[in-house]
Amino acid sequence: MYTRRAILWVRLDLRLHDNEALHEALNNVDEVIPVYVFDERAFLGRTHYFGFPKTGRHRTRFIIESVEALRQSLRSLGSDLIVRVGKPEEEIFEIAKKARTSWVFCNRERTDEEVKVQDALEKNLWSIGQEMRYSRGKLLYYTSDLPFPIQHTPDTFTQFRKEVERYVPVRSPLPVPDSLPPITVALEAGDVPGLSQLGHEEFEPDPRSVIPFRGGEEEGLRRLHYFLWEKELADEFKESRDGFIGGDYSTKLSPWLAQGCLSPKMVYYELRKYEEQYGRNKSTYELFYYLMLRDYHRFMAKKYCNQIFFKAGPQNKVSQHWRNDRPLLRQWIEGSTGVPFIDANMREISHTGYMSSRGRQNVSSFLVNDLGVNWQMGAEYFESALIDYDVASNWGNWNQVAGVGADSREPRYLNIISQARTYDPKGEYVKLWLPELRSLPPEKIHQPDQLTFSEQEELHLRIGDDYPRAVVSTDRWSS
Ligand SMILES: Cc1cc2nc3c(=O)[nH]c(=O)nc-3n(C[C@H](O)[C@H](O)[C@H](O)COP(=O)(O)OP(=O)(O)OC[C@H]3O[C@@H](n4cnc5c(N)ncnc54)[C@H](O)[C@@H]3O)c2cc1C
Repeated sequence: MYTRRAILWVRLDLRLHDNEALHEALNNVDEVIPVYVFDERAFLGRTHYFGFPKTGRHRTRFIIESVEALRQSLRSLGSDLIVRVGKPEEEIFEIAKKARTSWVFCNRERTDEEVKVQDALEKNLWSIGQEMRYSRGKLLYYTSDLPFPIQHTPDTFTQFRKEVERYVPVRSPLPVPDSLPPITVALEAGDVPGLSQLGHEEFEPDPRSVIPFRGGEEEGLRRLHYFLWEKELADEFKESRDGFIGGDYSTKLSPWLAQGCLSPKMVYYELRKYEEQYGRNKSTYELFYYLMLRDYHRFMAKKYCNQIFFKAGPQNKVSQHWRNDRPLLRQWIEGSTGVPFIDANMREISHTGYMSSRGRQNVSSFLVNDLGVNWQMGAEYFESALIDYDVASNWGNWNQVAGVGADSREPRYLNIISQARTYDPKGEYVKLWLPELRSLPPEKIHQPDQLTFSEQEELHLRIGDDYPRAVVSTDRWSS
C-alpha cells in the first residue's frame, strides 16, 4: 500500500500541545517525520546592521534544551525528532528527497528572515514535486477570526484590544496526540549540537537569575502551573509585575512563549480555568491584556513588514538626533554608564539573558532619549542577548520607545531617578548587580555621581575607580 508521508518542520513551535502543523500532518498523512534544523545563519551569524552574535549564549542553551526535550517527548509517543545543523532549505530538502515525502507541514512565520527560508525551501520542494503546507495558530487570535483585514488592523493597541476582546473568541488549544506513527525510513536521527558547536563556550548559570530558565515544553507548563496554581500569583500580577528580584513578580513565561514551548492559547485557557475557580479580577485581566499585546505586535509586524526594522519605523518618521555611537553603546551594554539603575539592568541581561519589563522600558528610554543613540543598536543588542527574543515583540517595543511605532502616541520619556526610587526604593536590586555600591545608603544609591569627595571617602567608594563616572549627570532628572 502507498504510504503518504510528510515532514513536520518544527521551528518556533517546540511543543506537542496545541501544535496545528502536527495535527494537520496527522490528519492528512500516514507517516510524519518531525525535523528540527539549527539554522547556521541564526546561530553562527551576526545581526543585520551592527553585527552582534545573532543568538546569544542564554537563548542558544534554552533552545538546545527545548529541542532535546521535544525529542524525548516525540520518542515517548513512538516517533523521533530528526536533528540537523545547516540551512533548513537544504537539510529538509535532502530529507524530503531521501524519504520520498509529499509535503512539508509547518507553522507559518511572517517576518523577513524566517519567510525567506520558508520560501527557499518551498522552491526547492517544487523542484521535486513536493509542497509546503502551512498552518497557523501561533497566536491567541487567528487572522481569519479578526473583524478587520490585516491591512486595517488598528494601529493603536487600545483600539485593537477593544475590537478583538469584545468580538473574537480565543479558539481552544489542540490536544497532545496519544501516539504517533513510527518513522519507517532509514534516516540518521542526528545529534543535538552542544553550545560549542553553536559558537558559545559552556557556562554556569548565574545564581542571581530571577529563575533558572530551562527550555522545553514540560518546563514551560511547569512554570505556568507554578504561577497560576501552586502560588496563585495571578491574583497579585497587576501590583507585582513591576518587580525586579526573584521569580514571583511576573510570569517569566516569555522564553517558552517565544520558542513555542508554550502556546498562548494554552496560557489563556489555564487562566480562564483559574478565574472560574478563584474569580476574575484586575490582575487576571492584566495577564490576558499582555497576551493580547503580544498578538498586537505580531499583527503590526505582519501589517508593516520590514518597516519595523527601519530607523524611521512604521510611521516613517525620521529623527535627526540618533547617532551610531559605539563607545556609548558599549558602556550601556557593559553596564558602566555610571547610572546604577541602568547598569544593574544591563548587567542582569548580560549575565542571565533576562530583564524585567520595567527594566527594559528604562534602559531603552535611557539609550534613546538620554544618550541619543540609534534605537536600532539597542534593538539588535536585545536580539542577541535576550533569552526570550521574539522578533515582533522586540522590534515592536523598540519602535514604541523610539516613537516610530505604529501606535503614534508620543513615547513616554522616563525619569530614570524617579523610576529607580519608585521601583527600587532601598536600592536592593542595584546592590544585587552592583556589589561595589553596597556601602551606599538608600538615599544615595541611585545617584553616586552626586557624592562629594568627603562622602566618597566616608563610604570608601571612589567614583571613577570603584564605579564609573556617569555618562550623563543624574541631576538632569532632579530638576
Ligand atoms: C525594549 C523592549 C524589548 C522587548 N523585547 C521583548 C522580546 O524580545 N520578547 C518578549 O517576549 N518580550 C519583549 N518585551 C516585552 C516584555 O518586556 C516581556 O515580554 C516581559 O518582560 C517578559 O517577562 P514575563 O514573561 O514575566 O512577562 P509578563 O509580565 O508575565 O507578561 C506575560 C506575557 O505577556 C507578553 N508580554 C508582556 N509584555 C509585553 C510587551 N510589552 N510586548 C509584547 N508582549 C508582552 C509576554 O509574552 C509575556 O511572557 C520587550 C519590552 C521592551 C520594552
